[in-house]
Amino acid sequence: MRRPILAGNWKMNMTIAEAIDFVRSIRLGLNEIKGVDRVLCPPFTALAAVKDLISATGIALGAQNMYWEEKGAFTGEIAPGMLVELCQYVILGHSERRGYFGETDAGINRKLHAALAHGLKPIVCVGETEAQHDAGQTERVITEQVRGCLAGLTAEQAGGLVVAYEPVWAIGTGKAATAGGAGAVIGVTIRGAIADLYGEATAQAVRVQYGGSVTPANIGEFMSHPDIDGALVGGASLKADFVDLVRIAAKTKGV
Ligand code: PEP
Repeated sequence: MRRPILAGNWKMNMTIAEAIDFVRSIRLGLNEIKGVDRVLCPPFTALAAVKDLISATGIALGAQNMYWEEKGAFTGEIAPGMLVELCQYVILGHSERRGYFGETDAGINRKLHAALAHGLKPIVCVGETEAQHDAGQTERVITEQVRGCLAGLTAEQAGGLVVAYEPVWAIGTGKAATAGGAGAVIGVTIRGAIADLYGEATAQAVRVQYGGSVTPANIGEFMSHPDIDGALVGGASLKADFVDLVRIAAKTKGV
């Protein structure tokens, strides 16, 4: 059985002081919920403060991005070796990184290799735009993203990944996908692409989250789908709702 995983992507929100207040308010509740991986992904500037606050808990920490180089003249970038001192996870290829900052599957693939080489656990994001969705291109787009992002990984590396299926049209819009729709993309397209590359056992080992306007009202539906192993959460991860999400997810999966 795949262990459920919920991650909160805070995006560019919260000062250090705000992050400290917020984590103090949710850490007890989050820590009580067992059987589910719970990951907080604050901005880089708040990683160290949040790390200190959750060090005695079962809550994990993640970054929202990184660069693939080890060090050097890359102004403004953060290297994987810097992140491993702070956190366990790193989100790679979020659609906002792809859309606003020109990230490509090839670049995400380089980041993925670098993250794994440093022992970070990547959460790799894929998702089609609304235009691609409306044009019936979801399967082609997602298959290309999975193949491009995972290129050159071993089966063992691929099997340990977390993939987040985040349809771009559902992110921050209040217009979530249906559990059936997202579950089909995850179960058929994403696991299918991984099975083509690495075989069925690897495809069944990968944990795949859904992301896009997840709330306490719809998380139960998503977690009821056998192919959905968790959620990558934006807006609702900035509120106490995140604890409710994790609680409902654990209950739904029966862990
Ligand atoms: C996200 O940005 O990863 C996300 C899923 O955002 P939201 O939950 O706000 O739609």
